[in-house]
Amino acid sequence: MDNSKFSGFYKKSPEERLKIIKELAKLTDEEAEILKKTGSLGMETADRMIENVVGTSEFPFGLGLHFLINGKDYVIPMCIEEPSVVAAASFSAKLARESGGFKTSSDDPVMIGQIQIMGFKNFQKAKKSILNNKEKIISKANERDSVLVSFGGGAKDLEVMKVDSKVGEMLIVHLLVDVRDAMGANAVNTMCEGISPLLEELTRGYVRLRIISNLADRRLARAKTIWKKEVLEKSTKGMMKGEEVVKAILEAYHLAVNDPYRCATHNKGIMNGVDAVVIATGNDFRAVEAGAHSFASITGKYKPLTKYHKNREGDLVGEIELPIAIGTVGGATRTKPEAKVALKILGVKTAKELSEVIAAVGLAQNFAALRALATEGIQRGHMRLHAKNIAITAGAKGDEIEKVSNKMTDEKNISVSRAKEILKEIRK
Ligand code: NAD
Repeated sequence: MDNSKFSGFYKKSPEERLKIIKELAKLTDEEAEILKKTGSLGMETADRMIENVVGTSEFPFGLGLHFLINGKDYVIPMCIEEPSVVAAASFSAKLARESGGFKTSSDDPVMIGQIQIMGFKNFQKAKKSILNNKEKIISKANERDSVLVSFGGGAKDLEVMKVDSKVGEMLIVHLLVDVRDAMGANAVNTMCEGISPLLEELTRGYVRLRIISNLADRRLARAKTIWKKEVLEKSTKGMMKGEEVVKAILEAYHLAVNDPYRCATHNKGIMNGVDAVVIATGNDFRAVEAGAHSFASITGKYKPLTKYHKNREGDLVGEIELPIAIGTVGGATRTKPEAKVALKILGVKTAKELSEVIAAVGLAQNFAALRALATEGIQRGHMRLHAKNIAITAGAKGDEIEKVSNKMTDEKNISVSRAKEILKEIRK
């Protein structure tokens, strides 16, 4: 590829950029047209959001149903490309309704900003100097975001710690900022930068990093529910006793507790639901992912984000706890048109409420996967939807999609090559 064609690429219009990449990558008119179709975001907004834009990419926007959370009904927008996720979450939520749905709680939306200080002479003296000037530092931080302060948020506290490393002793300040309805990264980063000169003065060291921590362990969201054994029995259409289902799910769960290979997949299933809502609401899913997995390993051992046990009645109790740094303001929550619509459908009033809804979806998702894996095996439901995608990949259109996918599912042979053969037979 002729790299010189990219000089000044970022200054060009999306149309000009598309022309360049069309030529270089030998895209057909049809392929270039695919990138031009920008959906609700529009090329102009997309071009303002990131660099080197030539188009947009879409996700299906589905609705998670049957969620009853703290006595309130929610319809939950979920954006995801993976089949089965929306259906599975809705299914779990429906079963959980029979015991009153999900109960949730969450911490205040406090994020941690980290300031790394090096080159000081004496850690204890530097620490003391910072702590003696705590109020001054906090008020200097708050000068940077009067809007946040007007909503009751802002820097509230700070902590000092020491990190020993190969390149020297480090003093780390954790600035604790209540970010209210924001995800908070920009707000916190700005504050960290604002207080750095003062920290340098107080410690006689120099500041290196000034950045939010995505391990948002002061901002945990929790959800809990009970899946009754009778309901579980019914969900297997009587194929398994309720007690057996509870036992099977607990056995599956305890593999995740004790084995990181299973645990990664267990937590991935949770994030299927979490990310889908995070994306639908225009939030930063990388931040939530980083937070979730670092929190899962905070004890030094990678652990499931959910917990399960059997209660005295023999029913299955499921719980989840994880950091959820999301906002209902800021970031892309107001620039992505469908994110605004998603928030309206959700009807959440605060970021705190949204984080609890997301926790409930994560738990629902995880339960659905465990139940399917421990009973019928995940492939049945999953494969039906997967088969449709394969049929489309093989070129099926309209009615053909259903016909090809049904045949492949019946034959338990789902592959593009088989789909092509079936298509040929159908079209004869
Ligand atoms: P932001 O700066 O767009 O919005 C937050 C601001 O909105 C607040 O500072 C406040 O001034 C104002 N505001 C108005 N009403 C508010 C209310 N009710 N509650 C709280 N604030 C209110 O966004 P942000 O949330 O500070 O940062 C989020 C963005 O930062 C995301 O796009 C994320 O991708 C990005 N980011 C993330 C990281 C990271 O996660 N490591 C790093 C850098 C940037």
